[in-house]
Amino acid sequence: MAKLAFLGLGVMGAPMAGHLKAAGHDVTVFNRTRSKAGDWVARHGGAWAETPRQAAEGAEFVLCCVGNDDDLRQVCLGPDGAFAGMQPGAIFVDHTTVSAAVTRELARAARDLGLGYVDAPVSGGQAGAENGQLSVMCGGSGADFDAAAPVIDAYARICRRMGDVGAGQITKMCNQIAIAGLVQALSESLAFAKKSGLEVEKVVEVISQGAAGSWQMANRHKTMDAGQFDHGFAVDWMRKDLAICLAAADEVGASLPVTALVDQFYKDVQRMGGGRWDTSSLIARLG
Ligand code: NAP
Repeated sequence: MAKLAFLGLGVMGAPMAGHLKAAGHDVTVFNRTRSKAGDWVARHGGAWAETPRQAAEGAEFVLCCVGNDDDLRQVCLGPDGAFAGMQPGAIFVDHTTVSAAVTRELARAARDLGLGYVDAPVSGGQAGAENGQLSVMCGGSGADFDAAAPVIDAYARICRRMGDVGAGQITKMCNQIAIAGLVQALSESLAFAKKSGLEVEKVVEVISQGAAGSWQMANRHKTMDAGQFDHGFAVDWMRKDLAICLAAADEVGASLPVTALVDQFYKDVQRMGGGRWDTSSLIARLG
């Protein structure tokens, strides 16, 4: 069992850190809003620290799940950042969805300090984090990945090394690109069914068993039809992710016309007050 630090106890981080504690690791947590760290320790045991640096001191692995590029820089760098507390040979594992550019920047800073770095964004949502069934897509050296994978296993259904540092984030972008167009198509299909006078449930029962079936259709059609969007992964986060995808596509000369359009549809949802609604709320703007 390892000595670990976990930074960021949000919707995803809190249950992930809980699985690490339940697996028997020695876990110290940090959260910007201190009350959440206190609540986590009251529920799971372990210890909490005042700063990322204090949490990271003496840890073999520092794991992290915060918000965006700037948030990640804030918990890693500076006098109170995790890197200042980590000992050479320790490995930083980042589960935040961020750009490949900030990932490479921080991995370089880590390497200069003798630290390992693995980018390890996740897919599977709040339910996947709570059930310990996340898909984890990693980038980093083979040695860093091999060391970190048994720790990540506490909350992973699948954990794979996709290539060097940044490759995990690029894989996560593939995931978001694949979801964006699909959720819009599903929204149009369900809204069309309803306006045509059909029962959405009956339509889905038939078409989900053929070529149109998808995880989104199976798991989201009921709540989409009911106008309930409480599944955790927020539209605000999705727009952050799609901006990352569109910038990365520009760099490699890839074309993402549908992704760019759906990003604008999510902007409409934000304007409707749905920034914290889950991503299936695309159907709300179809009236
Ligand atoms: P969340 O509930 O909003 O939690 C974000 C966490 O990051 C909180 O603990 C927050 O601290 C902390 N944080 C944010 N900015 C910080 C800063 N500048 N310094 C220190 N701590 C900071 O978000 P989430 O849903 O867990 O998502 C976290 C990441 O996972 C995001 O990158 C998201 O895109 C990705 N993700 C989410 C899902 C999902 O279904 N939710 C699925 C896959 C990937 P406070 O408590 O103080 O605010």
